[in-house]
Amino acid sequence: MENKGLLFVVSAPAGCGKDTILGEFFKRTDTAGYAVSATTRAMREGETDGVHYHFLSVDDFKKKIANGEVLEYTEYCGNFYGTLKKSVDDLLEQGKDAVLKIEVEGAMNIRKKFADACLVFILPPSLEVLENRLRGRGTETEEKILERTAQAKTELKFAENYDYLIVNDDLNEAVEDLLAVFRAEKLRKPRREGILKSIEGEES
Ligand code: 5GP
Repeated sequence: MENKGLLFVVSAPAGCGKDTILGEFFKRTDTAGYAVSATTRAMREGETDGVHYHFLSVDDFKKKIANGEVLEYTEYCGNFYGTLKKSVDDLLEQGKDAVLKIEVEGAMNIRKKFADACLVFILPPSLEVLENRLRGRGTETEEKILERTAQAKTELKFAENYDYLIVNDDLNEAVEDLLAVFRAEKLRKPRREGILKSIEGEES
């Protein structure tokens, strides 16, 4: 019997380095796969359909919801985002762990549906640092920076409902922390039925 795959949810306000941390994380684990979400937002430069997201029209997105193909969804900054059941099932069926990079409301809905999902929140060292990082990107107007910082404050309120909090002060440390959480979660007894059964089988 196979060990059970893990639903690993990672959330973070914009500017906390979530994508960079996850990029490093994926390089250093071969059991974790990214569950590609669906979105109605426009594709950004450098993004590929089916890799970063499944880019859908609002109509197609709504059809998927109606057909029960979406595990959770939310409206964020005027666009729909949702976790596709197929993306998660495909990974779990391959014996992989499914990593969901989703915002806070989606994470709370995943928790309601899957009590054993592991929820990790990545925090900035402080709101001041976050604001400075957003400003440092040089791509946003002052108004957008303040809007994003306010949004981060709202999202931070959800952090207390997560299982693990990782502070991205130092990138390497944050990656190590995420790997440590992931590895420990995979060793939890309920996910180790397979190993127990095979050892017990050897005895008899
Ligand atoms: P972005 O447009 O920057 O790619 O994503 C905006 C926000 O939507 C991010 O916080 C991202 O994690 C979140 N997000 C991406 N996919 C999903 C999803 O399937 N469900 C939910 N609830 N949020 C998502």
